[in-house]
Amino acid sequence: MLIVAAGPAQHNGTIQVITRRFLLGHGVAVSFLAPAIAAPLSPRAAARPQTPPRVQPLVLLDPGHGGKDPGAIGVSGTYEKIIALDAAQELRRQLLASGRYRVELTRTRDVFIPLEDRVGIAQKHGAALFVSMHADALSDPHVRGASVYTLSDTASDAQTAALARRENAADRFGGPAFRDASPEVARILASLVRQETRVGSARMAHSVVEQLHRDLPLLQHPSRHAGFMVLKAADIPSVLVEMGFMSNRADEAALRRANHRARVAAAMKRAVDAYFNGAGGTVTARRMAG
Ligand code: ZN
Repeated sequence: MLIVAAGPAQHNGTIQVITRRFLLGHGVAVSFLAPAIAAPLSPRAAARPQTPPRVQPLVLLDPGHGGKDPGAIGVSGTYEKIIALDAAQELRRQLLASGRYRVELTRTRDVFIPLEDRVGIAQKHGAALFVSMHADALSDPHVRGASVYTLSDTASDAQTAALARRENAADRFGGPAFRDASPEVARILASLVRQETRVGSARMAHSVVEQLHRDLPLLQHPSRHAGFMVLKAADIPSVLVEMGFMSNRADEAALRRANHRARVAAAMKRAVDAYFNGAGGTVTARRMAG
């Protein structure tokens, strides 16, 4: 039995370039193929060399807060929502200038968007990478520096949530072949996507830390984990970047300056480049197939 699961376009960055075959007991073979590479399976097409998809990956930038939610308010009155939007727009400009990416923002104006809607926007656009941009406040005004967050599912009450997410992710595969698969196979495929997402998110977080570290102050242990609602897209590698803290006078002053935001954006652009240049997805596929 061969089950071909055709993933939706949003798997572009992580899944679409990977061809994997899994044996799931009883000789059931599951090939997990994205549409762009599933097509050459026909005998005639198989003879042609496979060409990688030419569609540029979509980077979804998410300026935190907005509208009635100002986010953190800095020591001299700066609103986080303004800094987040300015920084995201600068990063968009730099990413577009490279000619390598498509870029969308969850908001381009000072409007309120619920967290789950931000995830929905990323999924609707088929984002390959989701980057939420913030500059929150801490209770300790002395703490400063940038930091990066990925979704953690280690908390006990998150296990039920993770199960629900896997179920929901399975639903989103669509394709008739996948719909015919048993719930068990569907669940396995969905959890593979989630594993892929976790690996991608961790790899992006690593890239961001590495690049920010080159010319910006970082928080101690700058790569952290938390249950951020906005990172809960089951199939899109997602990170949340705190560019600095509004509660720290030096960070706030720096983030108010366009040239500093341009440096932050330049570092994040390098991190995006490193992420898409990386071979993490292939390594993962090899490990999982082996
Ligand atoms: Zn924030």
